[in-house]
Amino acid sequence: MTVLTTEELRGMMRAISEKLSQYREELDQLDAALGDGDHGTGVSLGFQATLDPISTADTPTAVWKAAAMPLMNRIGGTSGALMGTLFLKGAMAIDNTETITPAQFAAMWQAGRDGVAQRGQAQPGDKTMLDALTPGVDALTEQLAGGAAFTEALRAAADAAQKGAEATATMQARHGRAKYIGERAIGHIDAGARSVALMFAAMRDYCEENQSGQA
Ligand code: ADP
Ligand code: MG
Repeated sequence: MTVLTTEELRGMMRAISEKLSQYREELDQLDAALGDGDHGTGVSLGFQATLDPISTADTPTAVWKAAAMPLMNRIGGTSGALMGTLFLKGAMAIDNTETITPAQFAAMWQAGRDGVAQRGQAQPGDKTMLDALTPGVDALTEQLAGGAAFTEALRAAADAAQKGAEATATMQARHGRAKYIGERAIGHIDAGARSVALMFAAMRDYCEENQSGQA
């Protein structure tokens, strides 16, 4: 994949939606340990709600932009606003062209991550989705800058995001509902970080299944 098409971005969104639906219960349980137990239900319904709007989007940035509003409205709460921001800021970061390069795709994720950090005012280490988003986006960017093929870069990003999510188990939360349980948060993975790791895993799986002979 040396250029990414609108259909490929739609495919990645569909893969994210399917993955989060598969893990809905696990994500609800992770959130139940630290918060109110609705995270898996929220993100799976939220991404399902993007599928119809993205089906008529006619450019890669239009796909991301079409996803933002349903995510905000359907997920609701803190993570709805943040997931909406992730996609909206991503869409606004690059030109609205018929195809995009892998480097532009990485730039969308960087801008989305920066938007989430700005809106949520969290830092890496605060036990939030940013603890998976930051290493995932950084790995994607670094791999592509170093000449890796797109699927290879997504593999590294998915690994880094999953490691980042696992590391949240050692952290105490400084944001969101989990902040109120103090030390009792230690030992539990943050639900939002796990969702982000699953999003990268879904994009990786999609690209592995759809690449035509390119690594
Ligand atoms: P709610 O807390 O409104 O029930 P969810 O359960 O859907 O929302 O999402 C909770 C997740 O949101 C947390 O696991 C965490 O990853 C993320 N989160 C909460 N606050 C912030 C923040 N300020 N910055 C980044 N992510 C956050
Ligand atoms: Mg919750």
